[in-house]
Amino acid sequence: MENILPLKALLSSPKHVVITLHQRPDADALGTGLGLAALLKKYQHQVHVIAPTAYPSFLDWLPGTSEVIVFAQGQQEKSLELLNRADVIFYVDFPTLNRLHEMETAVKNTTATKVVIDHHPTIEKFGDLVFRDPKAAAAAELLYELIEALDAQELVDQEIAECLYAGIMTDTGSFKNPNTTPRTHNVAAKLLRHGADATKVSRLVYENNSLNKLAFLGFALSHRLVVLQEYNTAYFFIRREDYEKYHLQTGDTEGLVNQALSVRDIVLAAVIKEKKDAVRLSLRSAGEVPVNLWAQEYFAGGGHKNAAGGVSHLTLEETIAKFESLVKAKKKVLNPNL
Ligand code: 5GP
Ligand code: MN
Repeated sequence: MENILPLKALLSSPKHVVITLHQRPDADALGTGLGLAALLKKYQHQVHVIAPTAYPSFLDWLPGTSEVIVFAQGQQEKSLELLNRADVIFYVDFPTLNRLHEMETAVKNTTATKVVIDHHPTIEKFGDLVFRDPKAAAAAELLYELIEALDAQELVDQEIAECLYAGIMTDTGSFKNPNTTPRTHNVAAKLLRHGADATKVSRLVYENNSLNKLAFLGFALSHRLVVLQEYNTAYFFIRREDYEKYHLQTGDTEGLVNQALSVRDIVLAAVIKEKKDAVRLSLRSAGEVPVNLWAQEYFAGGGHKNAAGGVSHLTLEETIAKFESLVKAKKKVLNPNL
């Protein structure tokens, strides 16, 4: 693995390390970050994990979450102090520095050596030591291989293994998305040997729903799902008042987009969310429908071919209209019979 020797040298004596995640970190960002933190602590490094914004509460159980510093939740000062003191800063699970949200400038201005661990395709060049592999199903998959290349796999305990397993399980949609490869299963098998309890992780992630969340799912399926059958497209829209009525928390709408993709023949699915500051979009696709390119073209976003997201500063209604115009513009990709 290229860059492994410089990384080994960098970590050969105790350092101040900060691990940064993308905004609204998911299980892959958080699991990879926490797994890496736990591993580096075993080498006597001083390690802190900083997230630009909050992570979903259904990930609370991941070992080490109580120590995660959330920049946007009144921890700016502490974060800046740690960033400025850091010798090494890791960038975990993101392809463009703007995913650091309000932390971007502060992080860029530090003198620390920047190490990237990511699996998104990108054209943006950043970082001093870059471990990027778009063929890896998850950042966690790549981190495990990195740990092996550092010959540190003996230090992977059950907690670290479960952090990484959670990242791989969620980014592959439980080993069924097309990013799942023999390599993915190989790493997952090794994590099980390190003691990861797959049933426990799956239950904590997928069978940990609040009644509010399920009540909202029922409501959304009945009243917020729009199917554009001709274009093999289905989307949900969520109004601000829905968030209040169903007391939705960060993460409560996660997974909803997969319900839209599960409708027969649907190859493009979206959730269009009216948030306080902007309208956010979550996109999923099946087959050769490149939602990352479309998110980039229409909604200042990006991601993977079959899973991407973006943002809109129009109203909800205008954003829905823009999404529908995208669908019409791409109709030949969505339905070759048109
Ligand atoms: P989700 O729909 O789960 O929020 O995001 C799916 C994937 O899309 C993420 O893993 C990430 O790669 C990408 N993504 C989501 N939101 C954004 C965004 O606002 N900007 C960019 N560049 N990528 C995003
Ligand atoms: Mn990921």
